[in-house]
Amino acid sequence: MAVSDHVDLDGFIAGVKRRNPGQPEFAQAVQEVAEDVFDFIQDKEEYHEYQILRRIAEPDRVISFRVCWEDDKNNVRVQRGWRVQNNNSIGPYKGGIRFHPSVTESVLKFLAFEQTFKNSLTGLPMGGGKGGSNFNPKGKSDHEVMRFCQSFMTELYRHVGADVDVPAGDIGVGAREIGYMFGQYKRITNQFTGVLTGKGLEYGGSLIRTEATGYGAVYFLKNMLEHVGKSLDGMRAVISGSGNVATYAAEKVTQLGGRVLTLSDSEGFVHDPAGIDQAKVDWVKDLKTRRRGRISEYVKEFKGATFHAGQRPWSVSCDVALPCATQNELTGPDANMLVANGCIAVAEGANMPTDLDGVHVFKRAKILYAPGKAANAGGVSVSGLEMSQNSERRAWKESELQAMLIDIMQGIHDRCAEYGGAAGSKYIDYVKGANIAGFKKVADAMLAFGVV
Ligand code: NDP
Repeated sequence: MAVSDHVDLDGFIAGVKRRNPGQPEFAQAVQEVAEDVFDFIQDKEEYHEYQILRRIAEPDRVISFRVCWEDDKNNVRVQRGWRVQNNNSIGPYKGGIRFHPSVTESVLKFLAFEQTFKNSLTGLPMGGGKGGSNFNPKGKSDHEVMRFCQSFMTELYRHVGADVDVPAGDIGVGAREIGYMFGQYKRITNQFTGVLTGKGLEYGGSLIRTEATGYGAVYFLKNMLEHVGKSLDGMRAVISGSGNVATYAAEKVTQLGGRVLTLSDSEGFVHDPAGIDQAKVDWVKDLKTRRRGRISEYVKEFKGATFHAGQRPWSVSCDVALPCATQNELTGPDANMLVANGCIAVAEGANMPTDLDGVHVFKRAKILYAPGKAANAGGVSVSGLEMSQNSERRAWKESELQAMLIDIMQGIHDRCAEYGGAAGSKYIDYVKGANIAGFKKVADAMLAFGVV
């Protein structure tokens, strides 16, 4: 066997931690993938010879920059911005931009790493990247957000492009922020290109992009349930978050006959035993996007619901759970509680919401468990379709896009089954399946390129 640091898993993980000090989220994401991929590559000499795992765990580049802007009182504010271009072996870098005070280089490196495998799983030609800033849009005026976005893009524009790197939204970056950033890109470059996805419909956006991540996660959940002869009809769902992914996941669960019991934000969760139906979801969407309010306000509007300050919703008894807020929001003890209370399926709308202990609990319990890189890939898939529409200078119909999204989520499910199933058993290890299927395509492209 060629000289390689793929020889033992513990040694490999120790090396990742040594080379990336103070970056726990990145090390966690690499470990989660390596735990599955290691066995798969053991007898594949080429992957060792070409150090594929080592190379895939090293971003192509990490760009860090200063973002200065002036607030409404004319104070100069200084933030840090990043773009992590992780891997472009199968297409231009692609991945969202996150604005949140918790953003660090480690968080963006983990997200860009995950994105690489997620994008590979979709079957579309997209590499992996992620970017963002520790800027907090909460409590800022529209004009402050606009000035920040313009300053951010004034630096970012030189690193992105329709065939280079195509960012999108993520936590704290929705239609408003994408509009401001696209406007600034166009102003600086004098080019109207598909440099961002998640754009408004008036200027090159795609139908169903807003809905795609939440809807896609529920389609994936439906596929998992159907695989074991069950359906969502009548099932009680616990959902965390109350942003883009959570609200559209809640909408689709309700449409498919389930009853949504909870939503949350960073201050706590609401529990509504009567079910958070379409009218209530519409109210939450308006609260979060237009009025920019807090989920605690829900209980003033809807009687019978309770607010649980500072808590996450995993103690509420349910049949299915969809973590749709943020990373590491579901721990080992939470996972044990869900399983003990009868939860049979978990589909991650958020990226890496379950910590490594929680992942191990779900795997040991052999419940239906879809990691984010599989279950939440609907968003980036429709972003990929937005890129195609921009290139063709046309817009597909909603019905066409809905059909494509359903088809893509089914394809991801089947790829997970191919690498995560075992002969003679209905059980699919979706984490293993997603990791290996996502890895293999990127790894084989890297082999084709030689040592670059
Ligand atoms: P939004 O900004 O629309 O909503 C985020 C939600 O999560 C809010 O309810 C927010 O509450 C809550 N949240 C954020 N940080 C924390 C925290 N530290 N603790 C508890 N709750 C928190 O973001 P999205 O819905 O777009 O993204 C949610 C997740 O889905 C993220 O992990 C993202 O990476 C992932 N994702 C998103 C995609 C997309 O298309 N948008 C695509 C694929 C994955 P609060 O308002 O209090 O901050």
